[in-house]
Amino acid sequence: MKLSRKNFLWWISGTLVSASLVTGLGCVLREESATPAEPGETGEQAEADQYSYTGSLGHIHRAHEAIVAVQLKHLEDMKNIAILDEDTINDCFRRGEYLFSVQMMPLDGAKFLEIMDEIWDVVREQDPGNPEHLFTLSAAEVFREDNLQAVLNEIPFMSKAEMKRFITVRELETKSGADSEVLSFVLFMSLSPFYSAYTEKVARVNDFSLWRQGHCPVCGQAAVMARHRSTDGARVLFCWLCHAEWLFPRLVCPYCGNNDQDKLRFFYVQDDRALQVHVCEQCKRYLKTIDNRALEKDLLLDAEEIATRHLDLLAKNEGYHRPD
Ligand SMILES: [Zn+2]
Ligand SMILES: [Zn+2]
Repeated sequence: MKLSRKNFLWWISGTLVSASLVTGLGCVLREESATPAEPGETGEQAEADQYSYTGSLGHIHRAHEAIVAVQLKHLEDMKNIAILDEDTINDCFRRGEYLFSVQMMPLDGAKFLEIMDEIWDVVREQDPGNPEHLFTLSAAEVFREDNLQAVLNEIPFMSKAEMKRFITVRELETKSGADSEVLSFVLFMSLSPFYSAYTEKVARVNDFSLWRQGHCPVCGQAAVMARHRSTDGARVLFCWLCHAEWLFPRLVCPYCGNNDQDKLRFFYVQDDRALQVHVCEQCKRYLKTIDNRALEKDLLLDAEEIATRHLDLLAKNEGYHRPD
């Protein structure tokens, strides 16, 4: 898949993908301690399980290309988004406070609804036979003018789990014929252009080097994807929502702070050391990681988040869960 812009990501919902993963992809896991090893070094093989999945990635890629096109189109209208001044940003990072915890993200309600309906159209095209999909998402009572501002003040602070609860409580699933996973995906993807525009502006004045947390310095979402930089092997965490990137120590769990090396390990897919799942035995969370040194080049993490959904299933089968 080709992206027209390096730091623009889409997040793919588990539901959209789980029904349609790569045909016949057989993976054998290998397991190692998390202590950094040189690329190409042979690892000890742990108990190996065989996994396979059925489906096709083609329509997912097409859907996401369409969603990215919607997002990029609207991103152009957000150039004037106001960010905090440089000193305040630095102060926040020193205190360990992500930016949206001190500044309400300025969201234009009409623009948000416009983006949401366009993304909803893309999702509906994946299931054209569903009569419930005639429903226009922005027509739901929760998005009516008198409710909208309160909703827009609330949803930017939601985790994925909270977003799903929000959707269920407001019966959006019943009205739209889509489940909360898909609807949560649509809502987050509609927020994403605002967030990306904001982060892009912050990144012009700040390199995030003062930030030491496992969640995003801008929007506070937990990182679910990382890469080891090809130049020096440093771990770079990546925000699926606003696309911020920041450094984080490799030998520490980004979710619980555990630094006991006996409780940090990683798995990789046989014959592909570049695709790794780093796990913490203390909190049982995992972080998908691309080892760019093994690849000898830097991949785009947004594209890899889609291409590596089979790793989420592998990690889940091994008893680990995503941080969100
Ligand atoms: Zn973020
Ligand atoms: Zn942990």
